[in-house]
Parts: sequence; C-alpha cells; structure tokens
Amino acid sequence: MTAILAAVGDNGPRNDLEIETDSKYAIETLTKNLANLEDTGYIGKANKGLIQLTVAKIRSTDNKIKLRWVKGHNGHAGNEAADKLTDSGARKPRDEALQINEEIPMAQHLTGAKLSKMTQSLAYRAIREINLKAAEQKNRKRTAEMMDAIQNQVEEITKETPTEERIWGATKNKDFSRQIRYYLWMVAHDTYRIGTHWLQANYSEELQKRSECPHCNGKIEDMGHILSRCETPGQEQVWDLAKEMWTKTGREWTQPWISNIVACALTKTNREKKDRDPGGDRLWRILVSESAYLIWKLQCERVIQNENTPFTTQEVNNRWTATINARLDLDCEMTNENLGKHKLNTKVVLQTWKGALHKEKNLPRNWTKLNGVLVGITPRQSQEEG
Ligand SMILES: [Zn+2]
Repeated sequence: MTAILAAVGDNGPRNDLEIETDSKYAIETLTKNLANLEDTGYIGKANKGLIQLTVAKIRSTDNKIKLRWVKGHNGHAGNEAADKLTDSGARKPRDEALQINEEIPMAQHLTGAKLSKMTQSLAYRAIREINLKAAEQKNRKRTAEMMDAIQNQVEEITKETPTEERIWGATKNKDFSRQIRYYLWMVAHDTYRIGTHWLQANYSEELQKRSECPHCNGKIEDMGHILSRCETPGQEQVWDLAKEMWTKTGREWTQPWISNIVACALTKTNREKKDRDPGGDRLWRILVSESAYLIWKLQCERVIQNENTPFTTQEVNNRWTATINARLDLDCEMTNENLGKHKLNTKVVLQTWKGALHKEKNLPRNWTKLNGVLVGITPRQSQEEG
C-alpha cells in the first residue's frame, strides 16, 4: 500500500499509471472492498490512515490509475524494487505514520460510518478509535477542569488549596482498594465514556442520545449526575446510609460532591476544632469512597446487565451494608501480626470505627480479633415497598 501511495503521489500531471503489485490485499482494499470500508468508517481496519490517504491521492488525480496483480518474488524487476519500498514503509516510525494520517484531505476523510451499517459492536469500536489524538487533547482539558473543581471545593472546606500533586497522591491513598484507586483516577481524568463524551459533532443522533440519563428526563448523565443527582434508586439511598453511619459517630455530615469525593482523602473532617481527628479522617475516606464506588457499580450493573431495571430499596440496603461490613472485616484482618510491614495498627482500626459499630457497648476493648463484628446500621425495611 505504501508503494502504491508513493507511485501515485510522485506521479506528475497527465501521466496515466499502471501499477503492478503482488499484494492482492492492496488491490482488493482499493477496489471491491472499498465501498464497505467507507460505509463502516474504516472502523477496526489496520493501517486505515494509509489506506485513506492512498484513496484520497488516487481520487484527487486526473490520471487513470490501473492496478495489476503480478505474482510475487518471481524476479520481476519492478516487483523486487517495490518490495524494498514496502519494507522501508513498514519500518516507518509511529509519528511519521500519524503525519500520514493528518495529511488526509478533510473533504475525503470519511470519519463517520453510514448509520445503516453501524452495528452496536462496530459503534463501540468506533468510539474507541475516533480521533484518538483529539480525544487525548480534550481529556487533558477535562482533567484540568476536574483538578480546578477539586482545588476549589477542597479549599472551601479546608481553607487551603491543595496542589495537583497532592490531589493525585490522595487518589492513591493506601486505605483504598486497588479498584477504588483506579475508579478515582478515572473520575479525576473524566475518562469514563459517559455524559458529554457522547456529545461529539461527528456522532450520530442515536449515539449522542447516550449522553442523557434514561431515568432523569434529558439530564446529562455525567459522573456528577450519577453520584449526586440521579433519581434512580441507589444514589440518594446510599448517601443516606453513609450519613446515618457517620452521624452515629457524633460527627457532622456534609454531603460530598464529585470533586471532594475524588479528594476525600484530603478532606479534614474535624474542621471546627484545631485538634486532629485521624480516626474520623480515615472513616470518612473509607465511607465516601466505598459509597461512591458502589453507586457507580450499581449504575453499571443496571445499564449493562439489568436493562435499566432499577434496584429495589432492599437491594441497595443490602449491597451497601455488605460493602461496608466487608471493609470492616478487611480492616480486622489487616491487624494480623503475620502481615509484617503491611500490618495495620490495631489502634488505627479501633479509632476508625469507633462509634459506628453494632452493639458497640457489648464489645471487648479490642474487638479486632472477634469474628463477625458489624457496622451499626440496621438495614431499613423499605416503607414504600411494604
Ligand atoms: Zn439520572
């Protein structure tokens, strides 16, 4: 293909070409398979930049171009020269390949596939592929906006502006599971394909519609919406449960929003008094991150597996309680002496959950060695369902 491109590109005006090639693939791509390639927007096609550029060059010349297949490696002088040319093309470094991509004249650069040829899986592949570079650029902007929002919100609460470095550090807090760290990283970069990610000028109306929440009439379904505003069962109820547990410890609840969810490891919980509250800080980041991540997981399950059927109040109750109890369990296990330097200080664990446990008065002073200690939230039976 590189050789064909070079031949057409180097050709002067009023000079019809007959190109001999041993590549059936190249001939078929440029002839009988081309219509289908263009209909499907070249999605998933390797070397699509090169093919598009070759097509564009062929179309932009007034000369007649004939492609003729010859058997490969038969000593045909032209063929062996072409082999060499192809070799040098194959070894071109990546950024040169990208330049080829950019050179494609916009008028002939078919970005969108025809809607009628767009199956769902093709659409998903397209979304991964479309304008990688532009997406990266845009994402830098999204990340910067998110950082800005976090700095503002944390400043409002703690009266100091964290550096971006501190914010990134906070998303990797060792009290978070690997999944939660990944989730916070993705949210901080605004990378999940939700909400405004679907609003691209070159997307079909059908795809653009995916930016909206199916439950909240036309509202953009971004992470902020999912975590704090969505009216489908889950969001509000999870935060109610978190709030109930938090206030049970005698602290005051502030509703977390997306930016201080990402930065929940930075938010000082004891803001009135000067003295620190390490147990509270740790409980806060566990409670907020686990709750937010659960809301996101419920949303994914609902959309992907459950055809958007909302969860019942009971299900949400059970999922949240199970999540927090599992986290409490993990904390207890982490105090095990055998863990060496990974071991959690028992005092840290006791401090974290102080005031949040079920029948706490009946527990021994060090309850971390007991089995089945539970958080003190009695999952409410749903009134509206009863
Ligand atoms: Zn919604």
